[in-house]
Amino acid sequence: MGEKLKKLAAYYKPYKGLFFSDMFFAILGAAVTLILPLIVRYITNEVVYFPAEDVLHTITWIGVLMFGLVILEFGCNYFIGYYGHLMGAKMEADMRRDIFGHYQKLTFAFYDNQKVGGLLSRITSDLFDITELLHHGPEDIVISIIKLVGSFAILFSINAKLTLVAFAFIPVMILYAGYYNRKMKRAFKRNREKIADINSQIEDSLSGIRVVKSFANEKIEMKKFQDGNDRFVAAKKISYRYMGAYNSGLGALTTLVTVVVLIAGVRFMAAGTVAVTDLITFLLYINNFTEPVKKLVNFTEQFQNGYSGFERFLEILSIAPDIKDKEDAVSVDHLEGKIEFENVSFHYEDSTENVLDHINLDVEAGDYMALVGPSGVGKTTICSLIPRFYEVSEGAIRIDGIDIRDMKLDDLRNNIGIVQQDVYLFAGTIMENIRYGKPDATDEEVVMAARNANAHEFIMSFPEGYDTDIGQRGVKLSGGQKQRLSIARVFLKNPPILIFDEATSALDNESEKVVQQSLERLAKNRTTFVIAHRLSTIRNAKRILVLTENGIEEEGTHEQLLEKDGVYADLYQMQFRKGIEC
Ligand code: ADP
Ligand code: MG
Repeated sequence: MGEKLKKLAAYYKPYKGLFFSDMFFAILGAAVTLILPLIVRYITNEVVYFPAEDVLHTITWIGVLMFGLVILEFGCNYFIGYYGHLMGAKMEADMRRDIFGHYQKLTFAFYDNQKVGGLLSRITSDLFDITELLHHGPEDIVISIIKLVGSFAILFSINAKLTLVAFAFIPVMILYAGYYNRKMKRAFKRNREKIADINSQIEDSLSGIRVVKSFANEKIEMKKFQDGNDRFVAAKKISYRYMGAYNSGLGALTTLVTVVVLIAGVRFMAAGTVAVTDLITFLLYINNFTEPVKKLVNFTEQFQNGYSGFERFLEILSIAPDIKDKEDAVSVDHLEGKIEFENVSFHYEDSTENVLDHINLDVEAGDYMALVGPSGVGKTTICSLIPRFYEVSEGAIRIDGIDIRDMKLDDLRNNIGIVQQDVYLFAGTIMENIRYGKPDATDEEVVMAARNANAHEFIMSFPEGYDTDIGQRGVKLSGGQKQRLSIARVFLKNPPILIFDEATSALDNESEKVVQQSLERLAKNRTTFVIAHRLSTIRNAKRILVLTENGIEEEGTHEQLLEKDGVYADLYQMQFRKGIEC
């Protein structure tokens, strides 16, 4: 706990000035609030009995003083309201920056086991709970304790008996508020969960709207949605019940305190132990000791939620990115692209079974290599080891003779271009999306890359050309068009090593040809790994590796492998007969 609290405190550090001035004004404001009724008491107790001309004179000065105090109280409240929230917002922004930055560093192995929705809620819901606590917590405690202790001390010095009667209600209030506050906060949390469920269902359903419609399943989606919607209303109903009980109950208890103080006060007055001004003073102070009770009770719940949110936040931050630069990692500016696999074995984190078993492979710089084989044998896996998306379990991969684990990760990845089957385009224009490959590229360079990728023409056919917004048009781009944008990105990046992972597998014959042409143009003079489903597309490869469960089973050119009449020849014949290609 101590270690975690220290980390929590660290977020206050940049805002020490704000924090301490917030505390100062909180204390000052609470003190002023406590003093004001004392002045009223002075007026009713003393000033009214002054000689007439003194009364006028004194009350004017007291009026000025009270006016000043009210302004001061206003200033304090304004300061803690404005700067306190600002401090909270800045701390929230810092935490969000830290967790987003950490997300950026975490590796594929982490994302393989996470849902984006869950990661998102850490950033939204948990941070909300944390900053509520960070900002309001210290302030509420200080103000409440000052008001509670201060009003008790003041009232006790005026009349001990009446004070005990009034404060006898405090434990009842604590119990009542504690019970309903906890219920209420839990209910609020459930409301937020229900809303999150609804949002993720909306997202899921709209992202898959084409599937929904193709199965004519709109009614089923509607039903699923309505169930979520009903659960939301049911959850809200519960929270309103608790909220009603909490608010009206505490309102009633506060009024009850007033009634009891009045009845007891008047009885004490009749017995001559309480003066009328004492009774007025008590009535003026009632809010000063009932409000803090509510705030302190609220704080305990806020603390629990905020602190458990903070623990979940730390849990993510404590996941060390397992792939990162070594201390003495070497910079490699431009690689030639000679790649060696030496005895490489690999298994994914969640299993012990090797996907790759003692793979040895030498690829000369500039070679055009093809990887073929049944699905699930590890073709994609081999290729994700080269940019160190995953770390080899055994053996080593070297590029230009340097172990990739000894290179700076950014340098390594800057030297590799990847074109996959699924293209991800970010929100923004076509120009921005291509420029993602080289953020400082000029417009001319972007256009040149698009021309090389056979994308310029279709881009120019849009009314807004390169300024076309992908967010609005993304869906209207065909698979082949999206693929050409992703190839343009890689042209711009201009890396010496390329990986095409089933880049054309999802395309129809016509667009496959156009894309294939731009891929071949891109591959010129670069070390290229092509994973291909359709064997016709790799006929020209310098070397074809046939991967099966037993590892690299065959190797050679298209002609050599056909002649060998093994696995490759079988695959080829099968595709030929089916007429998938050729
Ligand atoms: P290919 O590209 O040849 O179709 P992959 O390299 O994608 O094959 O997969 C090889 C094996 O590794 C498969 O059995 C697959 O289920 C498994 N696999 C792939 N990706 C992951 C992952 N991220 N986590 C765990 N297992 C994986
Ligand atoms: Mg694959």
